[in-house]
Amino acid sequence: MPDRIFNFSAGPAVLPVEVLEQAARDIVNFNGKGIGLIEMSHRSKDFIAVAEETESLLREILGVPENFKVLFLQGGASLQFAMVPMNLLGSGKKGAYLNTGTWSKKAIKEAKLFGDVQVAYTSEESNFNHVPARGDYKVDADAEYLYFVSNNTIFGTQFQSMPQVEPMLVCDMSSDILSRPFDFSPFGLAFAGAQKNMGPAGCTVVFIREDLLDRTPTNVATMLKYKTHADAGSMFNTPPCFSIHVIGLVLKWLKKLGGLTAITEMNRDKAALLYHAIDASDFYRGHAQPASRSNMNVTFNLPTPELEAQFVKEATAQGLDGLKGHRSVGGCRASIYNAFPRQGVEKLIGFMQEFEKRHG
Ligand code: PMP
Repeated sequence: MPDRIFNFSAGPAVLPVEVLEQAARDIVNFNGKGIGLIEMSHRSKDFIAVAEETESLLREILGVPENFKVLFLQGGASLQFAMVPMNLLGSGKKGAYLNTGTWSKKAIKEAKLFGDVQVAYTSEESNFNHVPARGDYKVDADAEYLYFVSNNTIFGTQFQSMPQVEPMLVCDMSSDILSRPFDFSPFGLAFAGAQKNMGPAGCTVVFIREDLLDRTPTNVATMLKYKTHADAGSMFNTPPCFSIHVIGLVLKWLKKLGGLTAITEMNRDKAALLYHAIDASDFYRGHAQPASRSNMNVTFNLPTPELEAQFVKEATAQGLDGLKGHRSVGGCRASIYNAFPRQGVEKLIGFMQEFEKRHG
């Protein structure tokens, strides 16, 4: 695929070429049926088989326990900021939150509409350059859950180990799901938008412990109750068919690659290369504190905003796309999700060194 460039976009993000090629074929003619997957009834045998296979691959690769439901929902990860407290809180009930960036802040804002909120930790005063270590915060005894964002896409920080506290954990894993293994046992609920490590936008995957389905207050709208979707196998209404299909293709690719064991190692290796290049230079400065560094989104600054703009412009011209930092923090960000190739990281490092020689 000589016309493909290196795509450092934070999301929607790079997907494996073989997945894109298969998806393109399936759009035109799926399973030799003479119609495309996106033209097919979601109640058809073919599509039901797709949805079942995607769920079963997710369960297998992530090791989802039997007592968790897997839901394919719409509304983006952002809808979960509201659905979580709508379903798990209610008047007089409290949720605890770790405020480690833009996405947790948005979740906190929504939770306040539906219950009490304890912000148990915030790294806002240091521009969210770290996540807390165990013991840096104390969760109120009456909190229903502790909510956190495992990987902070914008600031480039990541929990290297999951919090270990009572009560149950609720986690936004939008930008690092499937990048490493995790133990479901302390979790009540986890969710992730598809558009980084899983597939195209349009689908949000929710993992929810079955016993939580009956907690929802009765005045929650039908479409916003987890139980509605759990009872209907995510087919209460038309699900995001194409996204679910491509997630399935991505999961097959990941399984063939060696699953989470292999991808964890590949992700570590790519991120270590890039952080090493940043640390070896006085010209580039990493945003995240080393212990909190993300293996998915590498954020860094150059000496001035003018140099950053020049860097991004020249990089783009060399086929290194999407390196501009999020508008809320500036600087540069290299998102190197599961499907991002190591050669792209190597090419970026080469470009960084050459740019520093000219401007350092
Ligand atoms: N959470 C995280 C960690 C994210 O990175 C994003 C989007 N980049 C969101 C939530 C919001 O996702 P969506 O656009 O699907 O609502």
